[in-house]
Amino acid sequence: MHDILPGEQKYYKKIYDVVSNIASFYGFGKIETPVLEEEDIFLKGVGNSTEIVQKQMYALKTKGGDLLALRPEWTAPIARAYIQHGMHSWPQPVKLWYFGPCWRYERPQQDRFRQFNQFGFEVFGEKSAVIDAQVIQILYNVLKELKIKDLVVQVNSIGDSQCRPYYKKLLSGYLKTRESSLCQDCKKRVKYNVLRVLDCKEEKCQPIKADAPQILDHLCEECHAHFKGVLEFLDEAEISYNLNPYLVRGLDYYTKTVFEIFCNVSDSLSLALAGGGRYDKLVKLFGGKETPACGAAGGIERIVNLMKSQEIEIKEKDEIQVFLAQLGDLAKRKSLKILEDFRRAKIRVGESFGRDSLKAQLNRADKLGASYALILGQKEALENAIIVRDMQSGKQDIIKLDKVVEEVKEKLKK
Ligand SMILES: [Zn+2]
Ligand SMILES: [Zn+2]
Repeated sequence: MHDILPGEQKYYKKIYDVVSNIASFYGFGKIETPVLEEEDIFLKGVGNSTEIVQKQMYALKTKGGDLLALRPEWTAPIARAYIQHGMHSWPQPVKLWYFGPCWRYERPQQDRFRQFNQFGFEVFGEKSAVIDAQVIQILYNVLKELKIKDLVVQVNSIGDSQCRPYYKKLLSGYLKTRESSLCQDCKKRVKYNVLRVLDCKEEKCQPIKADAPQILDHLCEECHAHFKGVLEFLDEAEISYNLNPYLVRGLDYYTKTVFEIFCNVSDSLSLALAGGGRYDKLVKLFGGKETPACGAAGGIERIVNLMKSQEIEIKEKDEIQVFLAQLGDLAKRKSLKILEDFRRAKIRVGESFGRDSLKAQLNRADKLGASYALILGQKEALENAIIVRDMQSGKQDIIKLDKVVEEVKEKLKK
């Protein structure tokens, strides 16, 4: 788990601003859920045999004997909230977005944290393929707006309860004939989570994957038509994509469309920044009404790291324009009121009340990049005046204290 220090906050704030602006443009309302949920929500929703639940979940037992888990992802809790608050009776589709921490027990590695942040979008109550395409478009737009380069959208369909069981049988039948050549993990996956073999990264599993039957050849008519629809909408939105038959996502609740957006960091390395898909059965699985749904999430820490490595500049609106320096007790006392006057006029003023030497204070003003320094010495404090120093030219004016906010405002306009 990691601390987010002041120097990094600008990235998180930038991502938050971009996500919330795009969310409000597309009519999404913000939702927050508790960080703890009943463990059952994830066992049922994400899936008992998935890696997230098996290896990565922070589960705990309370003094009262409740089994809880720190949320490893947001979709299952939001589906729980959809039912709990009777959102099926709201005008459909219900569109929700979120931004905040998740927890997964991961092996420590580059860009992976055990507490990490995600943002995401969920749409409930609409089965049309246009929603799948729009969710992809929204995630893509967020990353574009953050000025991340070399983005690639990958899409696949993993079918539904009509066609997936048959495909899984076909796939495990095929894999059993090659079982001795599979990696250790995949040998287990054949039994418990056969689709995950498709996204195995182990060298020895690659040739086996390449010869495996592909789900796109075995979709039922409904899934096939839906997927075709998604691709047509993506064409229409001018979002280029690759079909990736090995993309399955690690969660049980997906049906039909799944997608991920990668950044090609180099020829050999691409990082998944965002991903999602359709989950038409989840709300019903939790005991709600049959509710088609689709959503996606982005990994904030990875995006922050990428913004740093791609040297994406963030303009900070709240840069210091004016610095207030003071000398002596009376001046220090008056400074608090002056600072307050500037705050009300919405002019950012830096200060360094802990320092008494004028030289040290002016150095600080210089470091912060202030255009003007206000100097309040003992003499000025007695005469209700203040010195305004142009930091570039060194030119100084003496101004009445009650006029200083207006004067500085004028100077900053120039
Ligand atoms: Zn493998
Ligand atoms: Zn199907």
